[in-house]
Amino acid sequence: MGLGGLASHFVECASLDEIRAALAFARERDLRVQILGGGSNTIFPDAGFHGLVLHVAMRGVGFEDEATASVVTAAAGEPWDPLVAESVQRELSGIECLSGIPGLVGATPIQNVGAYGQEIAETLVSVHCLDRSTDREVTLAPIECGFGYRASRFKHADRDRFVILDVTLRLAREMRPTLRYAELAHAVERGGDLANVDPGTAIRRARDAVLALRRRKSMVIDPNDPETRSAGSFFLNPVIPAEVYDRLVATRLERGETPPPPAYLAAGGVKVSAAWLVEQAGFTKGHRHGGVAVSKHHALALVNHGGTTAELLTLAHRIQEGVERRFGIRLEREPVLVE
Ligand code: NAP
Repeated sequence: MGLGGLASHFVECASLDEIRAALAFARERDLRVQILGGGSNTIFPDAGFHGLVLHVAMRGVGFEDEATASVVTAAAGEPWDPLVAESVQRELSGIECLSGIPGLVGATPIQNVGAYGQEIAETLVSVHCLDRSTDREVTLAPIECGFGYRASRFKHADRDRFVILDVTLRLAREMRPTLRYAELAHAVERGGDLANVDPGTAIRRARDAVLALRRRKSMVIDPNDPETRSAGSFFLNPVIPAEVYDRLVATRLERGETPPPPAYLAAGGVKVSAAWLVEQAGFTKGHRHGGVAVSKHHALALVNHGGTTAELLTLAHRIQEGVERRFGIRLEREPVLVE
């Protein structure tokens, strides 16, 4: 987002030895440590950060072919989207719907990155980390990662405990993409029936369609599009109990307010579109507060037009309050806020 003040200490680590040395440096000086990947989902305070920002910069990607799949191991510092592009080019499926997502590979298991019904947990084989509590390397299987909807133990229960070093995925060969979301399926089918093309072409078309959809919503970082100066979705789509959703629909009908909010069945209840809630609470696209605003192209993104973290947090707080007052639903912030 281009927000926040300076860090008192910053180091770029290109190996495990450098990470260990940087952590020791911070320990000796009693400095807080903030691990940073691409920074696309992290917001720093205006006053800056008194501590060590450790930027993970290990590189390297390897593909190993199996009978019906390819196992890819990518270092945490590899940019995510080029890895997706390379996998698609090799006609491998499993991450094509995660095209156009900014940031680095190491960040993807942290919030179980997902889009269009695909999430990293589905293809993940293991996550290789440094456990800061023991100073040992560990390799975690998916079941040990505590994955949930845009969540994992790395984000919640064990926040800051692990430094992710590399990520291993198993991607399928000769497999057509599964298009779970209607918007994406329609966009792909517009180019012709997928049943008539080979799997490699189908995978490429899925990636192209995802990129086009995301660009239209300013969700692909582009220095020439000021609306992309955001952290992507600022709020998670809330999952609410079915009876709360039914009440919400009934109240709207009583008041003659239609249509009901877009919603989908999810584990634990009904997932409601956070973007819809934001707009219906009066924060329409383009709504501005000082130097920050609700994106003109997607009500779920908050954009920095030269503002401050304080302004951003005020706007986010007002939106949360407004949605809660109107619908009784508390929106949860998605990006990481460094305090
Ligand atoms: P959208 O397609 O306009 O859909 C609105 C919301 O309804 C989405 O957030 C999505 O939930 C949900 N939804 C739509 N179709 C669904 C289905 N068939 N089954 C279950 N849930 C469905 O959403 P969008 O904001 O333009 O984003 C498109 C996709 O990219 C979404 O999956 C979104 O999560 C992802 N994305 C993520 C970020 C990020 O920063 N993390 C940023 C941009 C987009 P889900 O969000 O759970 O999919």
